[in-house]
Amino acid sequence: MTARILDGKALAAQVKQEVRARVATVKARGVTPGLAVVLVGDDPASAVYVRSKTKDARECGIEAFDHKLPADVSQATLLALVAKLGADPAVHGILVQLPLPRHLDADQVIEAIPPHKDVDGLHPESLGRVAQGRPRFVACTPQGCMRLLALAGVELAGASAVVIGRSVLVGKPASYLLTSASATVTLCHSKTKDLPAVIAAADVVVAAIGKPEFVRGAWIKPGAVVIDVGINRMPDGKLIGDVEYAAAAERASAITPVPGGVGPMTRACLLENTVLAAESAS
Ligand code: NAP
Repeated sequence: MTARILDGKALAAQVKQEVRARVATVKARGVTPGLAVVLVGDDPASAVYVRSKTKDARECGIEAFDHKLPADVSQATLLALVAKLGADPAVHGILVQLPLPRHLDADQVIEAIPPHKDVDGLHPESLGRVAQGRPRFVACTPQGCMRLLALAGVELAGASAVVIGRSVLVGKPASYLLTSASATVTLCHSKTKDLPAVIAAADVVVAAIGKPEFVRGAWIKPGAVVIDVGINRMPDGKLIGDVEYAAAAERASAITPVPGGVGPMTRACLLENTVLAAESAS
């Protein structure tokens, strides 16, 4: 079997088209969706992410407000900016780019974002709502995974789904979303025993570990759908996922590539959350 490649780039382009139309509708009501992006310090990878997020937003007609703060900014100054953005009616969504420099308390900063502007979906209220099965803002990466599973056409009700990684950013919300979709979910992490055997029983595998090609192709059940969240930059500059792609693609029925799978969908889902925030405010 050779897997169908789930083209995240093409799906993201479609989502962006839908967002553009929704933005136009909101604008016709006199509201311009606004996204504030806060970058602390000069980490090159974070700067690239922020640039692409603001570029995407502007391409969809969303106003993007860039806020760059020095690496040594105080917690109080950062919190004051978040409070100001929280009170600004032109700002519908607030995103604070993570990771923050070590002297800052990221949890406190994220909790300072008003939940109705939490377009990154990282506020405890957002995750709690996802856990309860009544989401408002779903974190962009797990939402992107769900959209790719929908593209694969996989029947999630009753399927056995294995999520590897239990981060608040990806693994946990992915497990809640799959549970809400009536999959039977196993959430794995570094203490999981006999991971290959757990994965071998899965109809759906979501890998969010951060270790290049950690999930071997031979572990994949023939016909399973594989969503590879991992982004690992190799010394030669190449990006590779958490799944041994070539071997897994021989067994899976569908698989996401890296790059070009979950990454573009993560970016697209941020735009969806931002227009949703503006729709709710207008
Ligand atoms: P993270 O916070 O570092 O979490 C990694 C998870 O993997 C942890 O739960 C950890 O378990 C688990 N893990 C580590 N070693 C393991 C092992 N040997 N066996 C089983 N589980 C193991 O990472 P993250 O933020 O979720 O990100 C995961 C990956 O996705 C990274 O490559 C990241 O770059 C990528 N990512 C991609 C996007 C995108 O847009 N495509 C977005 C976000 C993240 P413990 O909890 O036990 O330590």
